[in-house]
Amino acid sequence: MAIRQVVLIQPRRDGRYFGRGTSEPYTLMRLASLVPQEIPVEIWDEDLMDLPIHTLGKQDLVGISAKTLLIDRAKLITQAIQRQGATVVVGGTHTTLVPDEVEQWADSIAVGEAYTTWPQIIKDFDRGTLQKAYVDESWAPLDSGVAVLQDRVLQQVNEHKNYWTPYLEITRGCPRNCTFCTAIRVSGRTMRLRPVEEVVEEIERRKISRFFLTDDNFGLNFKLNPEYMESLMRALAKLPLKGWTCQAEQMVADFPEMLTLAREAHMDKFFIGFESVNPANRKELGGKAKGNIERYRQVIKTVHAHGIGVVGLFVFGFDHDTFDTFQQTWDFVRSSELDSVSATVLTPYPGTEQRQALLAAGRIIPHNTWERYDTTHVTYVPKLMTVDELTKSYDWLCRKLYSPPVMVQRGLRQLLRHPVPKWPKRAIAAFSTDIGYRREFGYRYS
Ligand code: SF4
Repeated sequence: MAIRQVVLIQPRRDGRYFGRGTSEPYTLMRLASLVPQEIPVEIWDEDLMDLPIHTLGKQDLVGISAKTLLIDRAKLITQAIQRQGATVVVGGTHTTLVPDEVEQWADSIAVGEAYTTWPQIIKDFDRGTLQKAYVDESWAPLDSGVAVLQDRVLQQVNEHKNYWTPYLEITRGCPRNCTFCTAIRVSGRTMRLRPVEEVVEEIERRKISRFFLTDDNFGLNFKLNPEYMESLMRALAKLPLKGWTCQAEQMVADFPEMLTLAREAHMDKFFIGFESVNPANRKELGGKAKGNIERYRQVIKTVHAHGIGVVGLFVFGFDHDTFDTFQQTWDFVRSSELDSVSATVLTPYPGTEQRQALLAAGRIIPHNTWERYDTTHVTYVPKLMTVDELTKSYDWLCRKLYSPPVMVQRGLRQLLRHPVPKWPKRAIAAFSTDIGYRREFGYRYS
């Protein structure tokens, strides 16, 4: 069958926020860039548009990427597309974690990153030999120009007009082993690095001056790949960037020289996984956080001293958590200088060690839709609390964390760290992260 076009779909989650999307489909942009130039390709982001499914037909190949909480929506979209006679390949995190489930309703599945299998899928569909499943046998090396963004993809996505924050990937993977983490199952435990020149070329060609790094644990490279990080930071320092943010762990505070380079490279904020203030949970945190509040304070102070902000990430519902853990977190946050705070409920995603243990103990709540695996709903029976107690404690904390006066206080504190002339440019960044987390908490009631 001769292929007519390729369409890649990101299912709906947040819709538009003040006219723009909040989650740029960066992975789909890279997969779209692997489509041969002679085949038309489009990305449909359901947050931005009603999907024109009626325009699809037999010669069209559709790819849908979905994480666990969007997989039910992906299934509905797939069924509507199949009624049009088009073919649907489903990939992404959930498919990688539970391929057998998705295989039952998709025409074909892509397990893994799909950088190597996606070009084969397109070829096979074109020849009429599409297989039921494609599985990445190895992690794609990122040092040889995998999926460099094509100009036609950038033009179609029009990121400056359609999205608040451009995404970018520089490294991928994490050698830690947190029991609740899906990232390592999807990205692997070896840190892979994109060439510095390729990163700089992409930033310049996209003309982006702010970005969020999608890397799982970018900061860990201070320790693992110091030479690479030094040359990366020096290259970024030369660009006219306004600010960028990334995920990290507390050890970044142990590398003051790197922090200086990062600030010179226009880094704005670290999202640091403190995870828990309860030291009894440290076994589940893969060795990166130990519930040591004094250490947390020192980390925040050191990073701030280098002119970089800190967003604190916390997870609740570990086996040693009680209401006291929530109270202690609130006491800590209140007296800390954190710029923004993320509070999420432990979520036993498929494929994780955490889920295996909970399943074995009969503690997974049955008959939940995957939509509830959104880190704001309780989907298992906690050990030292009831489901209701965990839910109410989480609500109690989030109402405090995301109350408007508290958010304003945190935002103003961030602004005060900068000279007054810079305030207009800093204003959005000072409040937007907390606003985003407050909106996430709102899904508790959806
Ligand atoms: S440090 Fe972060 S990315 Fe790495 S395993 Fe733990 S949660 Fe996952």
